[in-house]
Amino acid sequence: MKNIIVAGAGFVGVCCAIALRKKGFDVTLIDRREPGEEASFGNAGIIANSGIHPLANAAIKRQLPVLATNRDSRFRLHWPHLPKLIPWLSQFVGNCNDTVDRHCTEAMSQLLRNAVADHLELLQESNAMGYLNDTGWLRLYRDESQFQQTARERQGFERYGVSFQVVNAGEITELEPHLTRRYVRGMWLDGTPTVTNPSAVCKAYAALFADLGGIFKRTTLSQITQTPSGWELGTEDGNIQATDIVVAMGASSPLLLKTAALKNSIAIERGYHYLYRPLPDKPLTRSVIDTQAGFVLTPMEMGIRVTSVVELVANHTHPTPHQINALSDQIRGTLPMGEQLLDEPWMGHRPSTPDSLPIIGPTPGKKGLWQAFGHGHLGLTLGPTTGKWIADTIAGKPLSAQQQVDLLSRF
Ligand SMILES: Cc1cc2nc3c(=O)[nH]c(=O)nc-3n(C[C@H](O)[C@H](O)[C@H](O)COP(=O)(O)OP(=O)(O)OC[C@H]3O[C@@H](n4cnc5c(N)ncnc54)[C@H](O)[C@@H]3O)c2cc1C
Repeated sequence: MKNIIVAGAGFVGVCCAIALRKKGFDVTLIDRREPGEEASFGNAGIIANSGIHPLANAAIKRQLPVLATNRDSRFRLHWPHLPKLIPWLSQFVGNCNDTVDRHCTEAMSQLLRNAVADHLELLQESNAMGYLNDTGWLRLYRDESQFQQTARERQGFERYGVSFQVVNAGEITELEPHLTRRYVRGMWLDGTPTVTNPSAVCKAYAALFADLGGIFKRTTLSQITQTPSGWELGTEDGNIQATDIVVAMGASSPLLLKTAALKNSIAIERGYHYLYRPLPDKPLTRSVIDTQAGFVLTPMEMGIRVTSVVELVANHTHPTPHQINALSDQIRGTLPMGEQLLDEPWMGHRPSTPDSLPIIGPTPGKKGLWQAFGHGHLGLTLGPTTGKWIADTIAGKPLSAQQQVDLLSRF
């Protein structure tokens, strides 16, 4: 009988642990912190079933020279890391063509198809439905030409069944009466729910895992070594044996895999958030994004969370929240809000692949070593589905033709 260690208790690891436990395996979930304390803590909370399009595409390739100047509020390149980022950036640029775009959109739409249903299942089982906000996600455009540039995106949504409605300025005001009148067009993704406290949801899922008989152990993992019967994991509390390991440590996954001489093409897209006190008479009822400046306002249990910026770094380093700080006036101009509640902005690490597809599956030549990371902007969204795919694969269930394409094309 397999005994499986799941390394990492963010959304991806916790959901893998649950799905494996449901199959009857002995599962131990390991993290250096409590569940849901890193990237899974401070995200925008969107179960973004609309995230079917990869970041690499022909249009972004044209914008790269301008983006690299760090003058666009949506993106920052950490220039001191450029030498280490060059391999990732070369692959990213190589993916900026219609063929890769089509393949990745097809693969992502398969993965995302059940993302909302898979979350609803876990939200119900973990008694966490109270965190669900099903008012949708509103994408906002300041001028008509900016909206017209979304034609390709909207075609993709229609093709892959992502529900949305195009709304005009008056309809935006009907949906969110207290927003500034700066927006002339919107895209209301009315089938895209959010959660009002991502970390609490992740912890509720971890509690469900414990109720199912799973074990959570808090320790730092430093090494993995293949043994004749499986794997040995080095931790700060001594070594642990397992038949199988699922590496689900988000942006830290490559560090652990490196100890087994394995390489991955992962860069880190850092992001930040601030938190504002909502005004009781000027509520925000759904998550909204200012697509031009690139910030998202999400109504959460603890206040209005404002997430922003993609900051490309090669590894963990000190925060540089210049862009989100510079956006302060624009953010305040979007919605009347009370005081900002954090001393420092929260910072999180999105583990990102050059084609935006997560790495989910076996490691060639390393029996019993499974990988589940690289979910970029969609780790919350795809946690439950990733868990099911990993558990099915480990249990030996034949993969569908599409899953085989998605998994095997990565190696
Ligand atoms: C600003 C921002 C907004 C975002 N908004 C959204 C959104 O709206 N929707 C969405 O789907 N996604 C969003 N994301 C992305 C999402 O948050 C991540 O993709 C997701 O949280 C990754 O989950 P994970 O489980 O892979 O990693 P993590 O949540 O980072 O979990 C990894 C775990 O591994 C543990 N770990 C690391 N190293 C070790 C070690 N050596 N030993 C033991 N444990 C270790 C960590 O403690 C951590 O708990 C956003 C991200 C950011 C930064």
